[in-house]
Amino acid sequence: MPVVEECTLRAPGPGDVVVRLAASGVCHSDLSIIDGAIPHPLPAVLGHEGAGVVEAVGDAVASIAVGDHVVLSWVAPCRACFQCLHGHPELCEHGLDHAFAAPYAHAADGTPLLGAFGTATFGEMTVVPERACVRIDRAFPLDLASLVGCGVVTGVGAVCNSARVEPGASVAVIGCGGVGLAAIQGARLAGAAPIIAVDVVPAKLDLARACGATEVIDASAGDPVAAVKECTGGRGADYVFEVVGRSETIRSAFAMTRRAGTCTIVGAGRFDDTVGFGAMALMVEAKTVRGCVYGATDPQRDFPAMVALAQAGRLDLEVLVSRRIGLDDLADAFRAMTAGEVARSVVVY
Ligand SMILES: [Zn+2]
Ligand SMILES: [Zn+2]
Repeated sequence: MPVVEECTLRAPGPGDVVVRLAASGVCHSDLSIIDGAIPHPLPAVLGHEGAGVVEAVGDAVASIAVGDHVVLSWVAPCRACFQCLHGHPELCEHGLDHAFAAPYAHAADGTPLLGAFGTATFGEMTVVPERACVRIDRAFPLDLASLVGCGVVTGVGAVCNSARVEPGASVAVIGCGGVGLAAIQGARLAGAAPIIAVDVVPAKLDLARACGATEVIDASAGDPVAAVKECTGGRGADYVFEVVGRSETIRSAFAMTRRAGTCTIVGAGRFDDTVGFGAMALMVEAKTVRGCVYGATDPQRDFPAMVALAQAGRLDLEVLVSRRIGLDDLADAFRAMTAGEVARSVVVY
């Protein structure tokens, strides 16, 4: 479990930006590092969904200035590798190099600490490369902006960038935590109908309705595949988003996708959790199964767009914030996440 202690940041290099964090969302992937589902060297400073104010910039930094309000991206796209040049900056081959290049900080006893995801937003200050900083409108509240840096673009982007849901399409979302609720809002933005939310926690299904779900299904109360088919003329949904990251729910997501529909895997599962598909079914159902990392986002393009949508009232970020907490409350935030009590806890500094 996490401990809160003083540490000393490494000295920033010429291409680095020092950010005083204002807020950091608590994302499930932080817990996945703690429980080992995401292999990451430890000890590390966790947190990857942060926003704050630029405190200092290196000599070579051109696009970011002291005082800028920024949302941090946990991928720092190099803009030169194969993936960056082929429309996938979220898969940048060097986007996380800085996270492992050197210790991010030192604990008081000298122990080197890595910066998880290269952002290390569970701290009052952080050091990141210029490419991990995206400037946003200073008028926008930084606690809400922090959510843009992972959960919001991951959910909205899966719908709008990856699956490219069209108006009138039917959408089902399995898993209504912060990312799932953002996906539901993405489906609302895209003009989807019906939008079907699937979860096992009644409070999350209530939040799903507030985010635009037109139907909600409690998967603990019956077969969710049959329930989704009932809402979609017996065919299954045109687009299904799995936002849990477990083989059982991926199987369900595939089953509730209509023939020739698209099933998008958004949840981050374990490497050793495998999913089997019938060989005949894969052919004859003609479905597309695709993974989606970080909402297929281009941070520089999408972060300001998410802020603009929120400012225009088209995205509701406040509904995603279950509670605002301090760093000392992180252990309880992970407990509440595991218990399904929250969409997002947001650390405010
Ligand atoms: Zn995350
Ligand atoms: Zn790249």
